Amino acid sequence: MKLTPKRGKVLDVLKKQKRMLTAQEIKAYTPNIDLTTIYRSLELFQKDGLVREVILPTKESAYEYVSDVHDHVVCNSCKQIKHVRIERKYLNSIPELKHFDAQSIEVTVRGNCKQ
Ligand SMILES: [Zn+2]
Ligand SMILES: [Zn+2]
Repeated sequence: MKLTPKRGKVLDVLKKQKRMLTAQEIKAYTPNIDLTTIYRSLELFQKDGLVREVILPTKESAYEYVSDVHDHVVCNSCKQIKHVRIERKYLNSIPELKHFDAQSIEVTVRGNCKQ
């Protein structure tokens, strides 16, 4: 992927904010870049593994810069997203993965906070 100045700006916003942002929120930081370009950039970043998409409880897509391997816990009631690390050891027990070279694993746990 060619990192054009516009794409570079979109990536910079995600890097600097260090949190999940919707395309609309990214747009607020980059008023000179249209939404189509933002979505197109995010798509390319995802393909290159630079950015990850998480579907919010509102069904909106949010994006974050991939700085390390982690997973997400998404609460449907308070809409909070926690960044957690889920052990990969359990994957060894899945027969279908024995002869499979897994390159990426994304776990998203959805539910509700316990009161
Ligand atoms: Zn909650
Ligand atoms: Zn995260």
